Amino acid sequence: MSSFDYDLFVIGGGSGGVRASRWAAQTGAKVGLAEEYRYGGTCVIRGCVPKKLMVFASGFSEAFEDAQGFGWDVTAGEFDWPHFIAKKDAEIDRLEGVYAKNLKAAGVEIFKTRATLKDAHTVALADGKIFRAKHILIATGGAPFLPDIPGIEHAISSNEIFHLPSKPARMLIVGGGYIACEFAGVMNGLGTHVTQFYRGAQILRGFDDEVRGHVAEEMRKKGIDLHVGRDVFEIEKTDTGLKVKCTDGTYSEHDVILYATGRKPSSAGLGLEDLGVQMDRNGAIKVDRFSQTDVPSIYAIGDVTDRVNLTPVAIREGMAFAETVFKSNPTPVDHDLIPTAVFTQPEIGTVGLSQEAAREDHEIEVYRSTFRPMFHAFADRDQRMLMKLIVDKPSQRVLGVHIVGPAAGEMIQMVGIALKMGATKADFDRTMAVHPTAAEELVTMRDPMPG
Ligand code: FAD
Ligand code: NDP
Repeated sequence: MSSFDYDLFVIGGGSGGVRASRWAAQTGAKVGLAEEYRYGGTCVIRGCVPKKLMVFASGFSEAFEDAQGFGWDVTAGEFDWPHFIAKKDAEIDRLEGVYAKNLKAAGVEIFKTRATLKDAHTVALADGKIFRAKHILIATGGAPFLPDIPGIEHAISSNEIFHLPSKPARMLIVGGGYIACEFAGVMNGLGTHVTQFYRGAQILRGFDDEVRGHVAEEMRKKGIDLHVGRDVFEIEKTDTGLKVKCTDGTYSEHDVILYATGRKPSSAGLGLEDLGVQMDRNGAIKVDRFSQTDVPSIYAIGDVTDRVNLTPVAIREGMAFAETVFKSNPTPVDHDLIPTAVFTQPEIGTVGLSQEAAREDHEIEVYRSTFRPMFHAFADRDQRMLMKLIVDKPSQRVLGVHIVGPAAGEMIQMVGIALKMGATKADFDRTMAVHPTAAEELVTMRDPMPG
């Protein structure tokens, strides 16, 4: 007789926790999972999924204009915010139901409550239940971080943007990362006047410099009032809105202020410190390449480990954990060459090294093309596409691919396979083009940029 109630107890029912628990249960392990908010976690409830629905919704304003360019007699009416939000909420409810159903179908016992750790094998639920588990998996994700400035209580985070009662007329977005830049495009497309402040010299730090510049320019062309080198010093609520005093001494007024200034791992208050589980200064749980902490029965995956904070990565880490622990097949996750999309408008698809990062360790050739796609040219839309291949000169291996423009996210998924297989520039060249597409440019760039 085992002295444990469960072979595995998972804390957190988001992307990583759900996948890990289902995979473990499929091996015959007895699995329990606690989720304090909603099954599906950040991605399904207040991240990727509702965000992408908003990206789709916001794209129609340009689609109506483009339709006119193609001869259609259409004009955009008003966007019905309450209608969209209600429909989006119904879809999220449906998806949450699917997640709970799949967990139960896999044999996972689920508890909708907060869980903490009492010792290396004991989990305490907020409703008083105590369970002993042979293995414990922490998959608690992260939460928005907002800096402590005067008046910050008047600002919202990405958690609240999905539930605003009405569409704001004037919105300030603070930050220059994924979330700030995506929501600047979304709200601008929906008809809100968007101002964006980023404290540094250029948005999207870490991405290829030319990509950053190209996207910033296109965002401005679409009407986003983007200011770099500007931050908020203080927020004050007045009779007419939210008054912002900026670090450069200027003032502005907005109806809603969205802070998208990063996220922090949700590791506080779990009882980890008392058990000796190591964390970094930001609260990220330290794990080895098998997601094991330095307390052998405790593992951690996903955003709470702050490795690469993306849904597919959390899912892979969950699967690798189950494979390692429940199938006796030690499986590390390969975090190299992860393709990613930023759903800015225009969209970014990127995999591998930026030109700047590649130059540090490689002798490189850069192939680059910028052009107005056929669709935009015909519709008279002044929007250019950018494609770049970063190639290691001696081996001709492609080190990075960067795309800005329509369907960049869809394209980069396929390009990611080629790079993972070690494709060279010659492999790209001998691949026949698909015509007429924008993607054909990826296999028809003949000459590297001079110098
Ligand atoms: P989460 O999905 O955050 O799940 C953690 C769960 O644990 C939560 O449900 C939480 O309620 C629960 N929990 C926490 N503490 C406890 C406790 N003590 N007891 C019980 N339950 C607890 N990634 C992409 O790949 N593509 C995108 O387009 C994308 N868009 C995003 C947009 C936004 C606005 C945001 C915020 C994120 C986005 N992400 C995107 C990132 C993605 O959502 C995360 O990387 C992913 O959800 C991480 O999964 P996880 O399992 O680690 O954590
Ligand atoms: P990011 O880390 O991407 O960006 C945070 C931004 O806030 C940066 O521009 C940063 O500036 C700025 N910032 C940080 N602290 C402060 C501060 N104190 N004052 C002012 N500005 C500050 O975080 P996000 O919140 O945008 O997104 C979190 C993560 O979620 C992403 O990194 C990504 O992993 C994931 N995500 C993925 C998406 C996708 O796959 N499409 C979409 C959305 C989120 P600086 O650059 O100077 O540090």
